[in-house]
Amino acid sequence: MRDTLPLLERLPFPAIRRGRLETLQVNVGYRCNQSCLHCHVNAGPKRSEEMSADVADTVIAFFQRRRLATLDITGGAPELNANFRRLVQEARALGMKVMDRCNLTILEQPGQEDLGDFLAANRVEVVASMPCYLQDNVDRQRGKGVFDGSIRGLKKLNALGYGRDPALTLNLVYNPQGPALPPPQAALEADYKRVLGERYGIVFDKLFVLANMPIQRFGTTLLKNSEFADYLQLLHDAHLDANLDGVMCRNLVSVDWRGFVYDCDFNQMLGLPLARGRRARVHLSELIDDDVAGNPIRTAGHCYGCTAGQGSSCGGALKEAAE
Ligand code: SF4
Ligand code: SF4
Repeated sequence: MRDTLPLLERLPFPAIRRGRLETLQVNVGYRCNQSCLHCHVNAGPKRSEEMSADVADTVIAFFQRRRLATLDITGGAPELNANFRRLVQEARALGMKVMDRCNLTILEQPGQEDLGDFLAANRVEVVASMPCYLQDNVDRQRGKGVFDGSIRGLKKLNALGYGRDPALTLNLVYNPQGPALPPPQAALEADYKRVLGERYGIVFDKLFVLANMPIQRFGTTLLKNSEFADYLQLLHDAHLDANLDGVMCRNLVSVDWRGFVYDCDFNQMLGLPLARGRRARVHLSELIDDDVAGNPIRTAGHCYGCTAGQGSSCGGALKEAAE
């Protein structure tokens, strides 16, 4: 895996600061049942980093104290972590919205047979990667058989009421196959709804359209293909200042499996921790009574992945691109 940070740090990004904290995004570990080509986490079955029960306790103490609106749980495949269900239940007990970044095939893994029922019973919002509605494209990016497994997962979620019951939100995530900007979200969402509906009877709520980040596995592929500089230039040239207000790091902190805090999950993967005063990095336990509003956000060239064109946040497009 090549470290793209030195290259990204050469490209300055406009200075931005944190706003009010609303979302705690928790990466519970890098273990995953898949090894997707574009994974910005470099997750896979052999990764052993896992959030411990002690760190999960700190996470719970943090959201209990701070009364945040949303807990966003990611990984790897976050459901594989032994603390996943406890985190969900504690957050839901406070009335928080809980999001599970689910890869769909996890629903068929041994030991996860009741996962769909658990998610539905706890009204967990499912955010599922589905980079195309065509089998070849999905299998090329995410592995052989992933498309069929994802379709079965979506059908299972639909049968539980996801995408049909307003209390059971099912959102899909698209990212481009290669070093290109994603197409406009509204048109692609309409295509997804038509094709998945007609061919498989699948329904879902929204499609989030995200740009690929030039980091980790995708960044390494770009370097290997000598496409890194061009892709970064593409993101930079498509930057819109109007997207700066909507980037997710304004209102979210990202926590790693050890409890250290970052401005977002991408910075976590780059090893760029949230800096607080003289401290180069902070642990979540140090922030329980410390409001980070106004703190400078650590940015570099990858941030253009969030502000290029229509922009990308954890909730998809920010602004429509200028034609
Ligand atoms: S992209 Fe998601 S499903 Fe694929 S390897 Fe990474 S964490 Fe796993
Ligand atoms: S990558 Fe995006 S979310 Fe992360 S710090 Fe940069 S602008 Fe913010």
